[in-house]
Amino acid sequence: MSSIIEVAIPVPLNKTFDYLSSQEVVVGMRVKVPFGRKKVIGIVLAQKNKSIFDKLKSVEEVLDDVAILDASILDFLSWSTNYYHHPIGEVISTALPRNLRIGKKAVITKMNRLPIKTSDPNFKTTDEQQLAIDKISASLNEYHGFLLHGVTGSGKTEVYLRIAQTILDQGKQILVLVPEIGLTPQMIAHFESRLKTNIVSIHSQRNETQKLDAYLMAKDAIAGVVLGTRSAIFTPMPNLGLIIIDEEHDSSFKQQSGFRYCARDLCFVRAKQANVPVILGTATPSLEILKNVIDKKITRLTLTKRAGNAILPKVNLINMRAEAGNVLSVMLIAKMKQYLSNGKQVMLFINRRGYAPIYFCTQCGWKSECGHCDSSMIYHRHINRLKCHHCNNEKIPEQTCPDCGEQSLEVLGYGTQRLEETLSSYFANTPIIRIDRDTTRRKKSFEQHLEKINSGDPCIIVGTQMLAKGHDFSNLAMVGILDIDGGLLSSNFRATEYLAQLLIQVSGRAGRNEQQGEVAIQTRYIEHPIFNYVLSNRYTQFASTLLKQRAQAKMPPFSHQALICANAKVKQNAQDFLQEMVSLLKSFNINSVEIWGPTANVIEKKSNYYYFNLYLQSVDRKSLHQMLSTLSQYTNTLTLKNKVRWYLDVDPIE
Ligand code: ADP
Ligand code: ZN
Ligand code: ZN
Repeated sequence: MSSIIEVAIPVPLNKTFDYLSSQEVVVGMRVKVPFGRKKVIGIVLAQKNKSIFDKLKSVEEVLDDVAILDASILDFLSWSTNYYHHPIGEVISTALPRNLRIGKKAVITKMNRLPIKTSDPNFKTTDEQQLAIDKISASLNEYHGFLLHGVTGSGKTEVYLRIAQTILDQGKQILVLVPEIGLTPQMIAHFESRLKTNIVSIHSQRNETQKLDAYLMAKDAIAGVVLGTRSAIFTPMPNLGLIIIDEEHDSSFKQQSGFRYCARDLCFVRAKQANVPVILGTATPSLEILKNVIDKKITRLTLTKRAGNAILPKVNLINMRAEAGNVLSVMLIAKMKQYLSNGKQVMLFINRRGYAPIYFCTQCGWKSECGHCDSSMIYHRHINRLKCHHCNNEKIPEQTCPDCGEQSLEVLGYGTQRLEETLSSYFANTPIIRIDRDTTRRKKSFEQHLEKINSGDPCIIVGTQMLAKGHDFSNLAMVGILDIDGGLLSSNFRATEYLAQLLIQVSGRAGRNEQQGEVAIQTRYIEHPIFNYVLSNRYTQFASTLLKQRAQAKMPPFSHQALICANAKVKQNAQDFLQEMVSLLKSFNINSVEIWGPTANVIEKKSNYYYFNLYLQSVDRKSLHQMLSTLSQYTNTLTLKNKVRWYLDVDPIE
C-alpha cells in the first residue's frame, strides 16, 4: 500500500508537494522525486491521510534509512520560513550541506579524533571573568540571553571555554558561531587544546566531505562542539546545551543573497526552542542587542579591563588636511619607524583592495568606469588590469584618453597594493604582509599569513576588514587607520554605528601584551563627534547617543523594516513593478506600515541590471509581517512579475 507524503522541494515557490510512496518513510528523510521534467531531492515534512490533489506522482527513491532532520530542527526551519517569508524548500536546502543536497549518502567518511592532549590555562580568571562565569552558570538549564560585553583583549574566549566545559560535563553539545573570516585555525586549536571532546568546524575553507562529516557528527551527537560560520545555526544537535555567538555585531551573520536570514537573530529562536542559554560576545555590541538589554530581554555582563597585564591602546588622530595628498602622514611614518626599530609589529588598515580606485585623465577629467555597473574600475597593478569589484568585469587599461586622446592617464587614490608598494619604499628592509581577498583567495594562504604574523618578527601588516576580526597578535604594538572618511560621509543610517565598531575593533588589535599599544587614525575630519568617543574608548556612550537618535527617528531597532528589491535590464520595468507592488500593498489597508519608495539603489546599475528598492517600516512587527504574509498570497497577481527579478529582505541591513 502506498502512503501519501508531503515533501519540501528546493524551488522558489511558497508551497510543498504531495507524493505517493510505496516504501516506508519517516519525516525528515530525503526522497528523490519527479518534478516537472526533472528529478529533484526533497525532504519529507509529513505523512498524510489524503491530499487535495488527485493523480499524485510517486517517490522514485528514498535516500535515507533514518531521518537526517529531527523534529526540533524542522520546527526551527519552519519558524525561519515563516519569519523570513521565504520558500520552505529553499530554506531547508540552505540548511543542508551540499553533499546531502545533491543526494550523497549520509555517512561519515572520516571521524575526526578526540584532541590528543588538553591542558589547563596557566592563569586564574579575573574577578570580572569569574563574575560573568558565575552569572551564566546560574542559568545553564533554561533559556537566557547574555551579552558578554568585554573590551578587546578582555578574555571573552576564556569565559566561553569555562562555561563550555560545564556544559560538556553535563553531556550536552555547544554551538559556537563566529564571523566569516574569524574562524582561524588558531581559534579552533584554542578550543581543541582546552576541551576534551570532538570538535568539528563548518566553514568555507573546509571541503564538502569534511563539511558533511562535521554535520553528521553533530547530528549524531558525536561532536561536543560545533564551531561554524552563520549557516552552522542550522546544524541539527540533539543535545544542544548552549549557543555562543562571538563578535555578535559582525554583519557576516546576515546572509545577503537567496535566503536572507540573520544567524545572530535566529540564535535567540533556536535557544528558546531548545530551552538553553545563549551568550553573545563583543567589544562593540550592535544597537539591536543593546536595545534588548535596555528592554531587559538580555542580561549584560561586562569585562572592562584587558586580561593579564595588558592595557587598552592610546588612540590619536592625525589631521590629514595638513598633509598635501600624501597617503602616509609624516607623523605616522615616524611612529612606525620607532615601533619597528624596537622589534615590534605595525599594522595598517585600509578598507580597499587593489592598487588604486580611480584611473583618470589629468587633461579632461575622463574616468574609467565599468560599462555594466555604476562604479569606477579599480586598477590592479600586478596583472595590469582594471577591474570592477561589483561584476568582476576586467579590461586592459587604455594608453591614451578615450575622450581627448592625450597620453595623460594616471591613477588616483590608494588600495592595499599601492599602499604596500609605497611602504616598501619607506621601509625597504621590513617584511610587508598584505591581507586582503586577493592575497587570501587560495585555501590555506590566510592561514600561512597568520602564521608569519604569529611568529612575532617585526613586520608591517597591511590589510582590509579581514584584519578587524578577533585576531590576537601578541607582538603587534601599533595600528594605523587610513582612509575612513568615506564612512563619515555615507548616507546609510547605520554607517556611523559600523564605523565606530570598526575603529574600535581594528584599534583593539594593538597592544595585546604588557606594553601599551598605540593607534593613529588619519582623517580630514578630526572634529567629527565619533572620534570623541573612540579616542576615549567610550563605545557604550556613543551607542546610547545613536540609540537616542534612532528612537527619535523611529528607525531600527525602534521599528522593523523589510526591503523589497526589484531589478531588471529595462529600468522602467523595475520601477513600474515596484509601483504596482505599492498599489497592491496599499490595498491591504494595513495603515501602521509605512511604505517608502520605489527609489533607486545607491548603486543603481549592477551587471546591466537596474536596482530599485521599496522599504516597508513599522513600529509594530506583527503588522509588518501580516502585510508580508498577505503579499505572498497575492504576488501572482502582479502583472510585471515576469519582467523583473525581485526579492524580499526581512530586517535588511543595507
Ligand atoms: P577577547 O576575545 O576578549 O578580545 P581573548 O579571549 O582573545 O580576548 O583574550 C586575550 C588574551 O588574554 C588571550 O591571549 C588569553 O589567553 C588571555 N587571557 C584571558 N584570560 C586571562 C586571564 N584571566 N589572565 C591572563 N590572561 C588571560
Ligand atoms: Zn582626457
Ligand atoms: Zn561592473
